[in-house]
Amino acid sequence: MILPVVPYPAPILRQKGRRIEAITAEIRNLAASMIETMRAEHGVGLAAQQVGQAVQLTVIDIVPVLKDRPSALLVHGVEQDLGALMPLTLLNPEVTLLPERDIASEGCLSFPDLHGSVARATRVLVKAGLLDGTSFEFEARGMLARCIQHEVDHLNGILFIDRMNSASRASLSGRLKRMLREYV
Ligand code: ZN
Repeated sequence: MILPVVPYPAPILRQKGRRIEAITAEIRNLAASMIETMRAEHGVGLAAQQVGQAVQLTVIDIVPVLKDRPSALLVHGVEQDLGALMPLTLLNPEVTLLPERDIASEGCLSFPDLHGSVARATRVLVKAGLLDGTSFEFEARGMLARCIQHEVDHLNGILFIDRMNSASRASLSGRLKRMLREYV
């Protein structure tokens, strides 16, 4: 089911998601609907807060942007087939940032048509639960690493506007004020 995407500045976007302790039918349905919604909205990631649920659940599919924004996923140092692994559904993800950073443009489905430059780690180590109850540990690089950092921020109530440099945020301030005004 395609769900409505919650726009900024909805208060739920600032809520830390609660940990998922049991993979219920409700969680599986939510994940399936989030994948459907992400695809319908042409997004590469979606966090549960963006569909009105403050839980530690995110879905990611970077395949549509692979050509322009290179990515890699490694398990024990061995590169995996991204096409076969996407869409990724991550539960209770824990992310460790490796030191190298780069700056690139990001968007967010909760901020339609708004883009800004954000510095992120180029490589991250991830440990997350999967819907089949197993645990998945991997290294993400490139756009996938950026996307995971953006989504895990959402799960903790952090938004990409919080991470933008002051120049980027200043250039968007008029539009952010308008979103605040127009939010009902
Ligand atoms: Zn977002």
